[in-house]
Amino acid sequence: MQNKHEKSNTMLHNSISTQASCADAFDSESITVESARHKILGQIVPVDAIEQLTLHQSLNRVLAQDIVSTVNVPGHTNSAMDGYALSGDDLPDTNQRQYSVVGTALAGAPFKGQCIAGQCVRIMTGAAMPDGTDTVVMQEHTEKISDSEIWISSGHRKYQNVRQAGEDISKDSIVLKKGHCLQAADLGVIASTGIGQVQAYRQPRIAFFSTGDELRSVGDQLDTGQIYDSNRYSIYGMLRGLSVEIIDLGIVKDHPEDLRQALKTASSKADLIITTGGVSVGEADFVKDILEEMGELHIWKVAMKPGRPIAFGQLGKAAFFGLPGNPVSVMTTFYQFVLPAIQRLSGQADRTPLTIKVKCTSDLRKRAGRFECQRGILSLSEADQLTVCATSKQGSGILTSMSRANCLILLDEKCDGISAGDSVTVHPFSTYL
Ligand code: AMP
Ligand code: MG
Repeated sequence: MQNKHEKSNTMLHNSISTQASCADAFDSESITVESARHKILGQIVPVDAIEQLTLHQSLNRVLAQDIVSTVNVPGHTNSAMDGYALSGDDLPDTNQRQYSVVGTALAGAPFKGQCIAGQCVRIMTGAAMPDGTDTVVMQEHTEKISDSEIWISSGHRKYQNVRQAGEDISKDSIVLKKGHCLQAADLGVIASTGIGQVQAYRQPRIAFFSTGDELRSVGDQLDTGQIYDSNRYSIYGMLRGLSVEIIDLGIVKDHPEDLRQALKTASSKADLIITTGGVSVGEADFVKDILEEMGELHIWKVAMKPGRPIAFGQLGKAAFFGLPGNPVSVMTTFYQFVLPAIQRLSGQADRTPLTIKVKCTSDLRKRAGRFECQRGILSLSEADQLTVCATSKQGSGILTSMSRANCLILLDEKCDGISAGDSVTVHPFSTYL
């Protein structure tokens, strides 16, 4: 029986002493973040199964069809105000004029008669414009003489306060495109066209587990050297915001056989697998070697801090991400690689994260040669300028730096440090939702 902390010879493809670790700034074997993302996305095959959903079920789901409206929205030209409808050609020129009120139009109860010169119709917001009218004068700009007569002041414009039929959505137009992930407003927009069911892609199934002999679950007692497994919780949290089915497979020991079993289970259940830990070159790091043994390894090292090494490959039908164990690295690599992969897997059209340039108020230390994600706090300065500063401690084990931050500061490979006052590129966390 092999000692669980010894790697078999077949697993030691390279001598550990010649391999770069995540502490090195330069590593000729590492690929750039950009080329890693490109390579990853090239390997992801979107889910193609389609489900019919009610609008209530479709929140956060990805459309498998274009939504085409069969109606105009609004369906009728209608009033945007409470007031009086009349013909714009019959508005007073310079002086106020007297009009007779020939009826009332309510939302859902139109005035069925005709309105001619010298006449107006009392109208409420949302009521269809009566025949012979195209303009509404707000109630506040009129003066009641009696129930059937009013004064209207001068200074109005033809067509004012009127919402044209189809001005929001025109009949036969594409309202939302296939590949769009439905948000709250989209549900309302679809409902406004009278459509109650949509076709969406099946949600991808994402399985994940943590690896590490030192890991214990919340609620357990800790012995010396043991720590609580936090990665499964941050991964759960990041997945919850996405259109996915979540499969939490718990904690797996740093033992090759346990890992093989867990990966077998995961690949039988999931479209995409995420593990954390055990992916580096330490004596208890088996993930990469087992991936090579059971499936295919496409990427291992990426020139990124925090976050290298990270394994990406294929395990049966499932895409596989072996993320590093350090809690901050888990989140930064998730946002850089796993999130776009899941978005593609779920059938979403490619999304460009909201990227902004802002002035950095603190110096940032960095060595050239790798991409860095520093944790930042965006805020409005006294001069009403959006600025960012780094959270104080930036270590890959300082998970509170993620919870205190509201953005990632992205520093490219060439950058060799930032001085206070320089402009930096930032991804607000909201862009990852
Ligand atoms: P590894 O990549 O397995 O060498 O782990 C790197 C560091 O991350 C070690 O200090 C681990 O104890 C820590 N770590 C690994 N997995 C977890 C986890 N699930 N939760 C919290 N810390 C972890
Ligand atoms: Mg480990």
